[in-house]
Amino acid sequence: MTAPTVTQVADGVHFVESTHVNWTLLTEGDALTLVDSGYPADFPALRHSVQSIGFRLEQIAAVLLTHAHVDHIGGLPRLLAEVPVPVHGTEPEARHARREFLQQATPVDVLTNLWRPGFLPWTLYLVRAGALKDIKVPTATPFPDPLDVPGAPVPVPTPGHTSGHCAYHLPAAGAIITGDTLVTAHPTSSADGPQLLRPFFSHDQARTVAALDTLAAVDANVVLPGHGPVVRQDIAAATAHARSLL
Ligand SMILES: [Zn+2]
Repeated sequence: MTAPTVTQVADGVHFVESTHVNWTLLTEGDALTLVDSGYPADFPALRHSVQSIGFRLEQIAAVLLTHAHVDHIGGLPRLLAEVPVPVHGTEPEARHARREFLQQATPVDVLTNLWRPGFLPWTLYLVRAGALKDIKVPTATPFPDPLDVPGAPVPVPTPGHTSGHCAYHLPAAGAIITGDTLVTAHPTSSADGPQLLRPFFSHDQARTVAALDTLAAVDANVVLPGHGPVVRQDIAAATAHARSLL
C-alpha cells in the first residue's frame, strides 16, 4: 500500500490524497463522515487514513458521494462488508451508485486518448487499481431530510460530470468539496491549478461548466477537489481560473 497523504485543513476536516484520487474525512466528537472512497485498490489506504487520525472504521456514521464513478465509490464494497453504514447522494446519483445506469468514460474513450501525454501510465495504473471491476453500491439512497451527519456538510448539487454530481459545503471550515466538477490537477492534464477534467470524462460538459457558477456562489476559500491538491483560494477565483483555461 502507498500511504495516502492526510492533511487537516480545518477543525474536523481531513483531506486525503491517495495515488490518483482524493476523499475527505469529517469528524464530529467520536463519529465520522466519509466523502468518497477512492478506487477499489485504495481500500487499505482508506482504512489507513481513518486510523491515522485516531479513528476506526466502525466510527464511520455515514458515507456521502460526490458521484458514483469507480474512482470515488471503489472502496465502498469492502468498507460496507466490514461496517454496514448508510451511503447517500443526490437522488440521481444514488441510482447511479446502484448502477441502474452508468455514466462513465468507456474503455474506448480512454483507448482513443492513449496518444496524449500522461494517458498511458495513468491507464495502466487505473487498470491495476480495479477500474474495470463491476463496482456498485446497492444500498445507496438519496439524502435523508434533514441530512444530519458528522461534520454538517451541506450538499451543493452540481450536475454535469454526472447527472447527480454533488459538491459539499463545509460552512464552519469555509471549505468546499468540489468532487470532479472542479479539480486542481490530473495525470492526464498539463494545466496548473483549478480546472475542469477533459470533456470525455464528463457525462455533460456544458452542464459541468454551468455548475461552476453554482460553486462560485458558495462562501468558501478552501477547495477540496476529487483530484489534485487542496487549493487555498476563494472558490469564485478558482472557478474563474478554470473558465480561463476553456
Ligand atoms: Zn474522479
